[in-house]
Amino acid sequence: MKITEIRLGKISVPLRVPFKTALRSVDSVEDVIVEVHTDTGAIGYGEAPPTGAITGDTTGAIIGAIKDHIAKSLMGRDVDDFEDVLQTVQSCVVKNTSAKAAVDMALWDLYGQLYHVPVYKLLGGARKSIVTDITISVNSPEEMARDAKDAVRRGYDCLKVKVGVNPALDVERLLAVRQAAGKDVCIRIDANQAWQPKEAVRILNQMQEQGLQIEFVEQPVRAHDFEGLKYVTQHSYVPVLADESVFSPEDAVKIMEMRAADLINIKLMKCGGLYNALKIAAAAEIYGVECMIGCMLEAKISVNAAVELACAKKIITRIDLDGPVLCKEDPIIGGAVFDEKIITVSEAPGLGIQGIESGKLTYIDF
Ligand SMILES: [Mg+2]
Repeated sequence: MKITEIRLGKISVPLRVPFKTALRSVDSVEDVIVEVHTDTGAIGYGEAPPTGAITGDTTGAIIGAIKDHIAKSLMGRDVDDFEDVLQTVQSCVVKNTSAKAAVDMALWDLYGQLYHVPVYKLLGGARKSIVTDITISVNSPEEMARDAKDAVRRGYDCLKVKVGVNPALDVERLLAVRQAAGKDVCIRIDANQAWQPKEAVRILNQMQEQGLQIEFVEQPVRAHDFEGLKYVTQHSYVPVLADESVFSPEDAVKIMEMRAADLINIKLMKCGGLYNALKIAAAAEIYGVECMIGCMLEAKISVNAAVELACAKKIITRIDLDGPVLCKEDPIIGGAVFDEKIITVSEAPGLGIQGIESGKLTYIDF
């Protein structure tokens, strides 16, 4: 199975409601789609969201990295030389993790198709379905309470609540959400780097003292501040999950060595795809650190690849793959089935993506 062509396109999928965090606000998913074509006619699909505020990867950067580096290195290569081909994606350009993730997943898609196995089985095959949380954007306490109520009505029993835009308001926001959601709903929070270490400890302990029962806090401090993260982990009552601090397997190992966080968030767009995500998961198994799998604001092709990994690995105990259910429509044909909180992995070979609804994909010429 030889690679003959790599095609790029763009899709635009409107969100149900604007997505707001301490870092950004957006109202649609605008992703780059990758098609890796082969001489057998098989096509591998990948996707990358431009998340400049987090990964530094803009639309132009994703397209440029694939066009000028990755595609040139892969042309004519045999998918069956799988390890070599995957390593080429990682080594032909530095950083650019979203572009790498998009091509990496397309290659896994092809490899699964080549051997007629779904990717989740290739990776481990732990389970066939998972349960995701849903994100509550950061807004006024009243709006967040309303969104929380709505999510519980849709059947979600775990909310990921964004905080940190105005730290003075965060305890109030959480009180409103807890009251609206009821006591049995799991609440995890994501500060997206917004707090100072001591401020984080103060806010988190205040939340627990008020009986808010926070499951864990995601990335309370700046991404590079590993010492600050460790300080929060040691001093707050609330477990800490490292997200923006962990891009690479090396970051994950360092965080775990330092005991700077209790949990690790794996995202394909941060680590460059399944190839490196597997290394993070393996390291986490060794350290006994449970992982969450998360996504950016992404449509179904790339979230589907994360679903395959989540269904493969038992060390991934928390699922934050709500990208597709935040979207107003789903132009992707095939892949996992997203039925609100329940996600069921596809049994089709590879990633199970059959294509994109006609008229929804705009090809980019290069
Ligand atoms: Mg996060």
